Amino acid sequence: MDLWLKEMQLEGEGVAMSYKIKETLVRKKTKYQDLAIVDAEVFGRMLVLDGIVQTTIKDEFIYHEMITHVPLFTHPNPKKVLVVGGGDGGAIREILRHPSVEKAVLCEIDGDVIEECKKYLPEISHALDDPRCEIFVGDGIQYVKDHKNEFDVIIVDSTDPFSIAEGLFGGNFYKDIYDALTEDGLFIAQTETPFFLPDTVRKVFNDAKAIFPITKLFMAGIPTYPGGYWSFTIGSKKYDPSQVDTTKIPDWDTKYYTPELHKAAFVLPKYIKDVIGEK
Ligand code: SAM
Repeated sequence: MDLWLKEMQLEGEGVAMSYKIKETLVRKKTKYQDLAIVDAEVFGRMLVLDGIVQTTIKDEFIYHEMITHVPLFTHPNPKKVLVVGGGDGGAIREILRHPSVEKAVLCEIDGDVIEECKKYLPEISHALDDPRCEIFVGDGIQYVKDHKNEFDVIIVDSTDPFSIAEGLFGGNFYKDIYDALTEDGLFIAQTETPFFLPDTVRKVFNDAKAIFPITKLFMAGIPTYPGGYWSFTIGSKKYDPSQVDTTKIPDWDTKYYTPELHKAAFVLPKYIKDVIGEK
């Protein structure tokens, strides 16, 4: 009998996506969420939290390259980076490719995510064992409040804006992020789908814009996220991520990110410009 995982991607909108599953590698209730790692026929092993696909072996490169290299190639000399969430380790793996980075702190609320990803998704999580990576298991909201003027880049690699992640989207948190950044720091967050959740994207963008002198949104095509076309928002104190000098970006062995794409990703379709009120 075929086994299918049906993700209610946007239950309120009546949208679901189904994946044919070969094997369930682990399934457990952690202190915070329902955690599963399954092996899917098309996307390979995938991390699923509360029934929502977080990352898969096949398409993780898109999300992890874009959420890290866009901000890290915008800042001229990022030395200390914080990831809030991101317990799968994919963002840390890409951050640590940057030679300027001396320390990357991971603040993940759910230690089970880290442990199970280390066990079943080593291709994504292997850099969590790098000596430059410091792991803190706890709430990112409190962690950011407790640190001032410390990080060059902060990456919010969180679950969707409900339950434990709700406070990671919005004004109060962005104000604390502003204070935790150095004087020329910047932050990036995954900010959902403008097609299905325009109100969420608009609110998050405006909240960041009220705090940061430069706020920009860019898009990337990610097959396993609702609508397949995902937004990221950057708030920056000094450097404009859409105006980087691409001749200074090295030509790395990446699969999605390129210097040209860095700039092109900020060119938005009209309906998305309308969502965030940009001309
Ligand atoms: N790439 C993913 C996506 O957009 O679906 C996100 C992946 S990562 C696994 C998300 C992580 O954020 C989860 O492991 C979750 O436990 C963590 N998280 C949620 N709320 C958090 C909070 N308040 N503080 C720290 N980590 C949090």
